[in-house]
Amino acid sequence: MGSTNVGLWVTKQFRDLGDILYIGKVTELKTIGHDAQTLTIGAAVTLGGNVANGSPIGDSMPALLALGAEVVLRHGAKTRTLPLDAFYLGYQKTALAAGEFVATLHVPRPTGKLRFRTYKVSKYE
Ligand SMILES: Cc1cc2nc3c(=O)[nH]c(=O)nc-3n(C[C@H](O)[C@H](O)[C@H](O)COP(=O)(O)OP(=O)(O)OC[C@H]3O[C@@H](n4cnc5c(N)ncnc54)[C@H](O)[C@@H]3O)c2cc1C
Repeated sequence: MGSTNVGLWVTKQFRDLGDILYIGKVTELKTIGHDAQTLTIGAAVTLGGNVANGSPIGDSMPALLALGAEVVLRHGAKTRTLPLDAFYLGYQKTALAAGEFVATLHVPRPTGKLRFRTYKVSKYE
């Protein structure tokens, strides 16, 4: 995807990554849609790598976990849906099986008068 982490594995750790599949140009994964209940975000929009990466410093996860988001994982024609809190198994460890990728993220939309806001607090120098 954006190669923020992957790039460093190559330039800093000199890892040989073997064959890589780049999904950033898959039109179907670059869409954001919604119905009355759910916001559906394709894994090739800029949020996808942040979720799939499983980084403990990923900014979007606290908000997505609080909202009860789900990930749709895909391998060929087979898909399965997991709550985001079941997707992360440990430090940089996810439930992705071999050959599987994150296809979509489902985020329940706030109902009624509920408003959801999230802030990133950073040091300013
Ligand atoms: C210097 C540095 C600073 C950072 N700062 C922040 C920060 O301020 N806030 C923050 O939230 N995060 C930060 N991060 C971590 C952040 O989680 C990732 O950098 C970024 O969000 C990953 O997105 P990417 O698209 O660049 O992923 P990539 O680096 O391209 O990929 C990361 C991993 O996710 C996998 N992956 C990506 N998409 C999919 C998919 N659809 N299905 C399956 N696997 C997939 C890749 O194979 C790879 O293993 C930082 C990382 C670094 C190195």
